[in-house]
Amino acid sequence: MAARSEPYVDLHLHTVASDGTLTPAQLVDYASSRGYRAVAVTDHDSWESIGGAQALGSRVGLEVIPGIELSTNLDEREIHVLGYFIDHNDRVFQAKVAHFRQARVERAARIVEKLSAMGVRIELPRVLQIAAGGAVGRPHLARALQELGYVGSVDEAFARYLGAGCPAYVGKDFLTPEESFALVHEAGGLAFFAHPGIENCDDLIDGFVAAGLDGLEVWHAKHTPAQARHYQEIAAQRGLLVSGGSDYHGDGLGGGAPRNQVRVPYQVVERMKERLSEATLRKWNQTVIE
Ligand SMILES: [Zn+2]
Ligand SMILES: [Zn+2]
Repeated sequence: MAARSEPYVDLHLHTVASDGTLTPAQLVDYASSRGYRAVAVTDHDSWESIGGAQALGSRVGLEVIPGIELSTNLDEREIHVLGYFIDHNDRVFQAKVAHFRQARVERAARIVEKLSAMGVRIELPRVLQIAAGGAVGRPHLARALQELGYVGSVDEAFARYLGAGCPAYVGKDFLTPEESFALVHEAGGLAFFAHPGIENCDDLIDGFVAAGLDGLEVWHAKHTPAQARHYQEIAAQRGLLVSGGSDYHGDGLGGGAPRNQVRVPYQVVERMKERLSEATLRKWNQTVIE
């Protein structure tokens, strides 16, 4: 039996369109080499790698689900929201996402200013160059710091300067989780709370469900098996869908912390499809046939 018939999926992957190092072709190779049946491209505030990955995926029988990972803020907390089966070609959706991405550039500029006030001098143009046209984020600032020898690693940059509570931290306040659910729904997709175990925000889940949340990311490389079971139970109790993925950014990014093996059954994709609107499902089936 061909490796690709193994019924596992990875529904959380980043590419060069945001802060990952994988091109769409490398992402498809990554998934094919592991025998996955489906993946979701979930770049931060970006959709640009989806089309390319879908085209390449269709050649090797890999289902590429259009996704996105939206950065949202609630008070001081940063919540990531995954959208699956979004219509990434929708112009209104693209315009809104582009607007939020611009806000990320402004945030990077403010962090550069804060660092400069501390005598740590990195250049914004270099940070944007490292981001290579993708959605600029703290990992790019970390790499600029590392490049100039201010820190020895990306993890150290977060621990000393960029992490929440650190001197150069700047919060983001341009999209609330509730607004992001609406944005995902308007684009025909399903909204999931990404890696809830990292944020330790279980108290927010019921409010999110009332605001339209569709599911929880149960399996994640930074969730322990106990956390995965915990979120699976919460999802079952609330009638929520479940998802999971590696949150792989390519080698050398976001490493350091222990990463658990993520085994996500294809069945979760089938459950998602049962919840999609008729319109989204019709579009999706056309994409697969093309
Ligand atoms: Zn995230
Ligand atoms: Zn992610």
